[in-house]
Amino acid sequence: MNELASEGNRSCVGCRQRDEREVLLRFVADGSALAPDIRRRKDGRGVSVHPRYRCVDAAVRSGALRRALSLTGEQNLSARELSSSAASQYARRAEGLLASGRRARKLALGTEAVRTAIGTHSIQLLLIAGDAEGSRDELRDAAERLGRSCLVWNTKQELGRLFGRATLSVVGILDAGIATELRHVVRCATELAEDA
Ligand SMILES: [Zn+2]
Repeated sequence: MNELASEGNRSCVGCRQRDEREVLLRFVADGSALAPDIRRRKDGRGVSVHPRYRCVDAAVRSGALRRALSLTGEQNLSARELSSSAASQYARRAEGLLASGRRARKLALGTEAVRTAIGTHSIQLLLIAGDAEGSRDELRDAAERLGRSCLVWNTKQELGRLFGRATLSVVGILDAGIATELRHVVRCATELAEDA
């Protein structure tokens, strides 16, 4: 049968369901080991799995990951290690997106700047540190009234570090493209860390 509709799709080797290749996590054979390739750019034989712990775990347990890449080594694959190295790649990508947003002047840093961006409807996504306090709920409600989503990610200190500040509680993303990709990579990093 000709399956034109699913040409851009791949099967997750964990749960076996098909999904768009862009939302799936690719692993490539790297010598006798496996490496995550979240931007799908590396050469070599690859395999796709949903970027969430339970699919990586299922793919390791069933042997599907090893078979799909014809891995012959005796090394043990660890779903926990594979998930955490992929989660770090997604986190680094999120940091890279924030850095390019900053260079393009498409970020609002801190409560006052975010409040202004919400007021002028220029905000696309609100990123809130997991340990943010104070105006967090007010800003989230205001962004949601505009139909903009919110992400909770990282800590005030870590967000601050990215921007040369002691702490940073909220970042407004003003660019739609950056917002879309950031939402995806942060969700992936979060779901890979959940080993439930
Ligand atoms: Zn899956």
